[in-house]
Amino acid sequence: MALSERDKKHLWHPLTQHKLHPDSIAITHAKGAVLYTEDKQEYIDGIASWYTSAYGHCNAYIVERVKKQVETLDQVVFAGLTHEPAVHLSEKLIGILPDNQNKLFFSDNGSTSVDVAIKMSLQYHFNQGDKRNVLIAFEEGFHGDTFGAMSVSGLSVYNGPFEEFFLSVKRIPVPNGKNNHEVLYRLQTIIAENNVAAFIYEPLVQGAAAMKMHDASGLELLIKECKKQNVLTIADEVMTGFGKTGKHFASLHLNTYPDIMCLSKALTAGMVPMAITSCTEAVYQAFYSDDIGKGLFHGHTYSANPVACAAAIAGIELLQSEEMQQHIQRVIKSHQKFDKHIKSHPRIAQTRQCGIIYAMDLNLEMERYGNLRDKLLNFFLDNKLFMRPLGNTIYIAAPYVITDEQLQKIYDKIEYLIEKIL
Ligand SMILES: *Cc1c(COP(=O)(O)O)cnc(C)c1O
Repeated sequence: MALSERDKKHLWHPLTQHKLHPDSIAITHAKGAVLYTEDKQEYIDGIASWYTSAYGHCNAYIVERVKKQVETLDQVVFAGLTHEPAVHLSEKLIGILPDNQNKLFFSDNGSTSVDVAIKMSLQYHFNQGDKRNVLIAFEEGFHGDTFGAMSVSGLSVYNGPFEEFFLSVKRIPVPNGKNNHEVLYRLQTIIAENNVAAFIYEPLVQGAAAMKMHDASGLELLIKECKKQNVLTIADEVMTGFGKTGKHFASLHLNTYPDIMCLSKALTAGMVPMAITSCTEAVYQAFYSDDIGKGLFHGHTYSANPVACAAAIAGIELLQSEEMQQHIQRVIKSHQKFDKHIKSHPRIAQTRQCGIIYAMDLNLEMERYGNLRDKLLNFFLDNKLFMRPLGNTIYIAAPYVITDEQLQKIYDKIEYLIEKIL
């Protein structure tokens, strides 16, 4: 029996209403920007498998390093023990993070890295005798699916049954360049009227909100205000980290750096799951004490898994390489050229780009997961492109190693779609 049939017997897929969408495509192997299926089809991975496989699937350099690590040390407890891959990774990562970041705390995925950041920020104040119970987040932000991460996420379509169990969160709109001072005023008012522990945000690009982009100087105003008021700032770089915005991290586009950062997805180059919450020395110092109760009592079994650390080290080495930086620049220029060609098309409401992320809103109204979404998704699948349009937004966030021909195929199909299908 085919994999896609055997799948149906016991498997429950993420973000899937199985009655409406019973079928999954079975992937047997992958290389670079291409996914190969059970029935011998090839799909271009236009979203780098949810932004993880930034340097391409089964990248030989990373595979080699992971193989070596698997044969040397697989997994040990990270409480009381340490190992070379974790130490080496800490040195590599601190070397490329914004220069105020100094300590790393490991977990397993983007959501847990956010939960750790939230707990860090609440306990940071608590340890100083200051009980704070409110968080600030952007409207339409997405930070993950665990309860803490879900609470700060502003995309409510999925949250109905859980809302009454959420943490206390106040929301502000994203700064768009025109409303910067209005948004700053909203932030100031919320801080004045509540005990605010932290402000969490996706810097520059809100991924799940359909690659919405906001104004860097407006964001900087908000971060500066938080610093002035002793409200911690948490940059969720789970999606934007490791080169997507053209710099190693989106936070590096600003001059004021966050107190805490959340990293996952491309951290391990799409090889194995892992996440890191980084913070400043000042945050760490609020936990450093003779009092055992002031420690951060949070710990995941697979913390700092050596194999995941090895993948992350190899990934950072690739990110820093001349070759990968050239790929990033090539993709950025390629999107710019396509944008010039397509953006005035009457079926396109708006286009936007930040680094290798390119998005276009179609001039159509629809529900986020309505029929048009299926129509778009199926159009791309029929044309052997793995893309996941969000609402009426089509976006590209492919592996940096995608070839010019593969990029051209994506552009051609998008153009065909808006010319002939819609
Ligand atoms: C994907 C994502 C998360 C959640 O990460 P998971 O690994 O899916 O739990 C959190 N924040 C942002 C910005 C993301 O893009």
